[in-house]
Amino acid sequence: MGDKSKGQSAVVKSASIPARPRVVIVGGGFGGLLCAQGLADADVDVTVVDRTNHHLFQPLLYQVAMAGLSPAEIAAPIRGVLSAQENTRVLLAEVSGVDLDGRRVRLEGGDALEYDWLVLAVGAKTSYFGHEEWEAHAPGLKTIDDALEIRRRVLVAFERAEMTTDDAERERLLTFVVIGGGPTGVELAGAIAELAHNVLDHDFRTIDPEKARVVLVEAGPRILAAFPEELSESAKEQLAELGVEVETGRVTTIDEGGVELDGTRRVAARTVLWGAGVRGTRLAETLGVPLDRMGRVIVERDASIPGHPEAFAIGDMAHLEEAPGKPLPGLCPVAMQQGRYVAEVIARAKAKGDREPFAYVDKGTMATIGRSRAIAMTGRMRLRGFLAWLAWLFVHLLFLIGFRNRFVVLFTWAWSYFSYKRGARLITERGGGESFTRSSGVPSLRRPEPAARGGVERASTPDPVAVS
Ligand SMILES: Cc1cc2nc3c(=O)[nH]c(=O)nc-3n(C[C@H](O)[C@H](O)[C@H](O)COP(=O)(O)OP(=O)(O)OC[C@H]3O[C@@H](n4cnc5c(N)ncnc54)[C@H](O)[C@@H]3O)c2cc1C
Repeated sequence: MGDKSKGQSAVVKSASIPARPRVVIVGGGFGGLLCAQGLADADVDVTVVDRTNHHLFQPLLYQVAMAGLSPAEIAAPIRGVLSAQENTRVLLAEVSGVDLDGRRVRLEGGDALEYDWLVLAVGAKTSYFGHEEWEAHAPGLKTIDDALEIRRRVLVAFERAEMTTDDAERERLLTFVVIGGGPTGVELAGAIAELAHNVLDHDFRTIDPEKARVVLVEAGPRILAAFPEELSESAKEQLAELGVEVETGRVTTIDEGGVELDGTRRVAARTVLWGAGVRGTRLAETLGVPLDRMGRVIVERDASIPGHPEAFAIGDMAHLEEAPGKPLPGLCPVAMQQGRYVAEVIARAKAKGDREPFAYVDKGTMATIGRSRAIAMTGRMRLRGFLAWLAWLFVHLLFLIGFRNRFVVLFTWAWSYFSYKRGARLITERGGGESFTRSSGVPSLRRPEPAARGGVERASTPDPVAVS
């Protein structure tokens, strides 16, 4: 009887109350989260799937890598952010593939989700330009694990330098090479220089951290090439004030002894960091749709996947051209605006022919170089130095998810600005990589196998950096 009435009510329910359209959003980054939030009041059922449980504010990852902030200050649980949205559920799962014709999303482990609308927003991963063997020597910066790995390598290098009695080895340990003169590379190089010259300068007895050498390597003729030449020149000067050397050259080898440039010059260094390029993810490759040469899905002007008006790809994983041959850059505001745009299309169930093309509103771009140092441009206005840095600070606080995070970050920044102290200088063992362990009272170094390192994909420097 009980079974029968249950079965009957299920039939009645589905006959009298048509199911609401099911929206599956893959990725709780900037694009996915803004899309989900844009559907809060829509008459749809939303499922957000992410392989991590947190939305990550990637623009501040370098601060975690350089011990300025702790991971929790730049990340927020996706479930918490969306908890007030009654039409939305959050799943912690890795998406392994999508059947675009059958409208099903496949999850790692065998489960599947059916959808009426699909939004793919899975971001990008680090590209080593076909030299995957470089990853073990030069980690990229894309996830919290990446940032902790970089933090450990940098701090361990100072610790080892303090102990070694070999002058040449001390020099190698105190040389830090950052590859890629885009915003992430510039941020990292500037931050290492500040850490060495202003934060650690009184903490060691044998070495003088102020003597640490930071080399930023750029393959093109100038750093921050997405900015006008005058700003890029200003960035180079600001880096020089911090003691960062800028080298132009093509990286031909990276190994545990350092980096070789143009097949001729060598920079001996124990710590090499990678911030030189990104490409589309493995998921994009499995879709069976046209990709650009960076592995991004080539989408139509409404961000839909060709031949599938109900499926969208947005943010870093998408190649959307507003003008022929000019794809939008991989930036937070692009992903956020696309997320909102797609939410509107779905909420209004707009048919393909009724959709206005996506139009990106560019409110400006900026790159930070260090404490009180940055460059920024908005419209015709160009800012450099302290003013640009204040603008950077304001924008990053504004867009950080969660009031608590904003408050803590502001407080932490203010504290380290005036005191030159950094509270997150912990050497931990998470994520593997080279670590400093103590056995029988003798400090030693341990280098686990590369397979032990966490994270499926690592990505790093997107080219330009924008604000919005
Ligand atoms: C170090 C760094 C600094 C940056 N600085 C700036 C800056 O200052 N200004 C700026 O505008 N932009 C900056 N960017 C770029 C910016 O972060 C990206 O453009 C933005 O994050 C893109 O948003 P997205 O939603 O496309 O992807 P993401 O924010 O990367 O989100 C992708 C989400 O998808 C999830 N995911 C991936 N694969 C799967 C899968 N198979 N299954 C389930 N979930 C999956 C991930 O866990 C992640 O949560 C920076 C990027 C980096 C790495």
